[in-house]
Amino acid sequence: MNAHFEISSLLPTHGFAGLGPPHIELVPTEPLSNPYWLTWNARLAGVLGLPAQPTDMWLQRLSGQLEHTPWCSVYSGHQFGVWAGQLGDGRAHVIGLLGDHGVPQEIQLKGAGKTPFSRMGDGRAVLRSSIREYLCSEAMAGLGIPTTRALAIVGSALPVRRETIETAAIVTRVAPSFIRFGHFEHFAHHGHSAELQHLTDDVIAHFYPECVDQPVPALALLTAVIRRTAALMAQWQAVGFCHGVMNTDNMSILGLTLDYGPFGFMDQFDFHHICNHSDTQGRYAYAQQPRIGWWNCGALGSALLPLIVDEGALREALDGYEPVFQGALTSAFRSKLGLARERGDDDVLIGRLLTLLHQNHTDFTRFFRALSHLESKTTEAEAKVGDLVIDRAAFESWAASYRERLAWESSIDSVRQQAMLRVNPKYVLRNYLAEIAIRAAQAGNPEVIDAVQRVLEAPFDEHPEHESWAGTPPGWADALSVSCSS
Ligand code: AMP
Ligand code: MG
Repeated sequence: MNAHFEISSLLPTHGFAGLGPPHIELVPTEPLSNPYWLTWNARLAGVLGLPAQPTDMWLQRLSGQLEHTPWCSVYSGHQFGVWAGQLGDGRAHVIGLLGDHGVPQEIQLKGAGKTPFSRMGDGRAVLRSSIREYLCSEAMAGLGIPTTRALAIVGSALPVRRETIETAAIVTRVAPSFIRFGHFEHFAHHGHSAELQHLTDDVIAHFYPECVDQPVPALALLTAVIRRTAALMAQWQAVGFCHGVMNTDNMSILGLTLDYGPFGFMDQFDFHHICNHSDTQGRYAYAQQPRIGWWNCGALGSALLPLIVDEGALREALDGYEPVFQGALTSAFRSKLGLARERGDDDVLIGRLLTLLHQNHTDFTRFFRALSHLESKTTEAEAKVGDLVIDRAAFESWAASYRERLAWESSIDSVRQQAMLRVNPKYVLRNYLAEIAIRAAQAGNPEVIDAVQRVLEAPFDEHPEHESWAGTPPGWADALSVSCSS
């Protein structure tokens, strides 16, 4: 056994598993038969102390064939704003821990069979959704946005019924913890205060040690989670990422992007963009995400109230969300515009731009990338940006204000351009890119997953061999529809 992967010896005493029942249950996997590799993330493997080339032993393990019993956890949550009762790891097993520079990381198989929390589900994940989760986890990491990671995908011929018959796969996810707001809501809802206290103490001890000595540790934890969540929302907004299912059971207590399902990066900017076909009311539309992040923090706060006790203090903590979010958002858009200094009317300039992009259905990623090439003396680059906006006069009016703003801080072209090219990605995981990788893998060419991943793990760099992936999406991309089915 690899020295870094002492899963059986780590299991009883380390990490969340140390909490024991009723938080977790030991649950055997239902391994996939005749598994095959779709991809192995050599870079992440290296960080975790695993080989660059995976061995057969790893194929067996990551398809669910284990010599020990992994664990699953119970949680509940609010789905689409409504209390949904008990949910839990219905298709996720934590098989052990690995160290990332000494920080223990949970290794979790998604799709390795039914668990006591599967409810009506089959415990499986399909190839399509596993590729989407894998690529988006790594794309977010490439963008510098907090996220769970993905180590590998294994496939199999096992048929799985969704809208059509598809095949099963397992994606291996990696994170310091997969604990969700819903874990806290679960014990709070049932009035199990000892378990709630135990969970809170454990999360603080492992992930928020600075809260231990605070007068009310649970309040300090909530405040810290609120800050991380607000900051995460600002980062999503700044790259045009829509999560699609911001239910409280998909909200990470560590402020990570978690549970990639019907997510989407916007092509054309639209405040009301809904990436999830199943979200008929638009509860999780692009412009709603920050408010929903706050609402979800409210649900976490209610769950922690028995430990916080003081309702006024709880409200005050929640009031802290908005300024953190606004500050992070303005700062992110300032960086996107290459503004090194702050000026009181920056929000006006940013707001005018977003309205312009919205009204003109302008490609969000391409616009900011093109703007990163703007020069003060020539109008060539400005013309190229203007080409992306239908209402040329409105763009030019905004651009005049922008140039005035750059002149105000004596912005130096080369310095600003360099900074902007490091925050405005050339490549994001557009739906059609994921689709290209999925169709290729389904046709027996999984290496396209790696090609897409390589570009997305360095999204700010030029990749001349994949220039087209940074261009206008092909016509067929418009017809793609993504739902909760995964
Ligand atoms: P999600 O919508 O993916 O966030 O999942 C919500 C809940 O349904 C979680 O408890 C999942 O574990 C569970 N779930 C989703 N799909 C399946 C499946 N195919 N089999 C078992 N449980 C599932
Ligand atoms: Mg989920």
